[in-house]
Amino acid sequence: MSAPRAAVAARNDSYPETLDHEDVVVHRGHRSGLYSFVAVHSTVRGPSLGGCRMWGYEDSRQALRDALRLSRAMTFKSAVADLPLGGGKGVIMTPPGVTLSSRQRIDALLDFGDTVDSVGGRYITAEDVGTSSRDMRVIAQRTRHVAGLPRPMGGSGDPSPFTALGVEAAIRACCERVFGSAGLRGRTVAVVGLGHVGSRVAKRCARAGATLVLSDIDPRKRRLADELGASWTPPDGALELDVDVLAPCALGGVLDHDTVPALRCQIVAGAANNQLAGESIADLLAARDILWAPDFVANAGGIINIAEELHGYDPAAARRRVRRIGEILLEIFDRAAAAGTTPLSAAEDLARTRLRTQI
Ligand code: NAD
Repeated sequence: MSAPRAAVAARNDSYPETLDHEDVVVHRGHRSGLYSFVAVHSTVRGPSLGGCRMWGYEDSRQALRDALRLSRAMTFKSAVADLPLGGGKGVIMTPPGVTLSSRQRIDALLDFGDTVDSVGGRYITAEDVGTSSRDMRVIAQRTRHVAGLPRPMGGSGDPSPFTALGVEAAIRACCERVFGSAGLRGRTVAVVGLGHVGSRVAKRCARAGATLVLSDIDPRKRRLADELGASWTPPDGALELDVDVLAPCALGGVLDHDTVPALRCQIVAGAANNQLAGESIADLLAARDILWAPDFVANAGGIINIAEELHGYDPAAARRRVRRIGEILLEIFDRAAAAGTTPLSAAEDLARTRLRTQI
């Protein structure tokens, strides 16, 4: 485990995890021998939908914790975006630092398909960190409860471009609130994590005229910085950059009682799920006068796009709906200001109201 990942894992252990889920299933796959988890947090608004994360976890607590936290966030995400979906998440736990052979990978995905099928449609899977729309085709051999299949197969394909579009809308809404203008020309933006979403967020911000600092644990990603004329910084210290906007686009848990006091940005708005190590971190950010775009609002573009599959997929309609993330955020900031609370509380209140309302 790399130093940053080890540090995040150790810090996460000091933040408690609530169990308020409808179902949590753990299966050991008979093909791969690997464990997979499906957490169904809520089906109040519809079947739970959330991506399948394939990741090398150091121990099972980390994998289960991810499934529990990420599925809860999906409930809030779909409710705030007003989608007829609940919250769920899948996790395939691979040995840390080991790259699976293509046969092992297929076996792990088929096993995961069985885990998904075991909850009978109460969970629908899709792509997440470590999986792609091609992988969804493999999972679909074992269950029909799969979204995000490739476009030629009638699915909505890779959700990442839509997630990145939504993150850009979130960054612009935050800039409007803090600087009085949604324009990105001349703004400094640090993008940490340059995968499917982060690389696209970086490109979109570059096109909009922002000055960029890019960072990733994978040094090969430096090529993108060269391509976009951006600065490059290693991940250690990337959170402490003196920039207008910090966009966390890697894994969760990066904002905690150690990292927030060291932040030097005015806005945090990015794609990473579960950026806060615990809910109290939202108060810490507010006390430091840093505007945080709740992650489950800012990164809803992917699920909004997938939800379009429910009534005949139309990418133009999906793009229109994703752009509304900016308006939703501004409404959340207004509600937070009026109630004297944090954007996290205001967003959660909005979600809870929708969870109580029949749709
Ligand atoms: P990805 O696996 O394609 O990219 C993640 C990138 O982060 C990789 O380049 C990896 O090297 C880098 N990384 C990992 N740890 C890091 C660290 N400590 N410091 C810097 N870089 C690090 O994943 P993705 O699909 O781009 O998703 C990124 C985040 O956004 C995840 O938290 C994911 O759950 C969330 N998200 C993604 C989508 C989507 O549509 N893909 C939708 C909603 C939320």
